Amino acid sequence: MKVVRPGTATEAIELTARFDGAVPLAGGTDFMVSWNAGEANGLTVIDLSRLSSWRRIREAGRTLRVGSLATHWQLQSHDVVRRRFPLLAQACATIGGRQIQTRGTIGGNIANASPAGDTFPPLLVYDARVRLVSSARRRGMAIRDVFVGVKRTALERGELIESIDLPYHRSPSRALFRKVGTRKASAISKTVAAGLLWLRRDGRIRELRFALGSMAVTARRLETVESFLRGKKPTRRVVDEAVSLLERDVDPIDDLRSTARYRLEVSRNLLRSFLL
Ligand SMILES: Cc1cc2nc3c(=O)[nH]c(=O)nc-3n(C[C@H](O)[C@H](O)[C@H](O)COP(=O)(O)OP(=O)(O)OC[C@H]3O[C@@H](n4cnc5c(N)ncnc54)[C@H](O)[C@@H]3O)c2cc1C
Repeated sequence: MKVVRPGTATEAIELTARFDGAVPLAGGTDFMVSWNAGEANGLTVIDLSRLSSWRRIREAGRTLRVGSLATHWQLQSHDVVRRRFPLLAQACATIGGRQIQTRGTIGGNIANASPAGDTFPPLLVYDARVRLVSSARRRGMAIRDVFVGVKRTALERGELIESIDLPYHRSPSRALFRKVGTRKASAISKTVAAGLLWLRRDGRIRELRFALGSMAVTARRLETVESFLRGKKPTRRVVDEAVSLLERDVDPIDDLRSTARYRLEVSRNLLRSFLL
């Protein structure tokens, strides 16, 4: 394995273009697992750890710009993230243990694209945009377009995640983050939910955003449920109908962590209790 250590973003982009098929390395928490399994043998690795500007979290106009190398620890401790994007701060606080949180980055979490990535439901409900850069171009992509399958993203060869933009929004009437695993700490989720709800003065739903992870090959927004509820009063009857639509937006499986049936039941309960 060959490791190169660019000192600047420009150098990182150049090296990524020069070494075709090279693998970016951020915190290494996912990468080390594949290295142990022998999957990194013979690869060129671009170690991004010296790119201090990609670690920064700062305001950029009407968004909070989070550098891709910001760690889960940084995010959960950051004052603006905690105040304006608390679901993301809460998600980061559930990732692995302290060691994983202090090394693992948000960019690595996104690029790894596990169906169980805990930051994804919050990023989906916050309508995050991922800023990508390569030697050819710079572009932005809505987070919902990034994930295309299990551990597969829409990133092109040679593209790096530079940062993630979180647009500021009106304070919601209700907000929820909930990770359900075998135990509270250091567990991969059976289901993981994030929700934002804005109610009108008359009690009708102005907007609902609800996303689930571990419930399909990629984390998903519940688009059918969201559009069904727009403009309606969340009465028990309406909520029951909305909850019955949930499975149109997801496709859970049985695996070593849980069963499709359990995942669906718990997700329905989370949605119901959030709405009532
Ligand atoms: C014990 C353990 C527990 C874990 N628990 C959880 C958990 O509870 N929840 C959860 O969501 N995850 C968990 N993870 C997974 C992992 O910690 C996270 O996904 C973490 O955010 C990965 O970030 P990293 O910086 O370590 O990525 P790395 O390992 O450095 O990289 C991961 C992948 O992303 C690519 N990459 C990294 N940065 C960039 C970039 N800027 N641009 C393009 N590609 C990039 C790499 O090439 C690699 O393919 C756990 C992992 C371990 C080992």
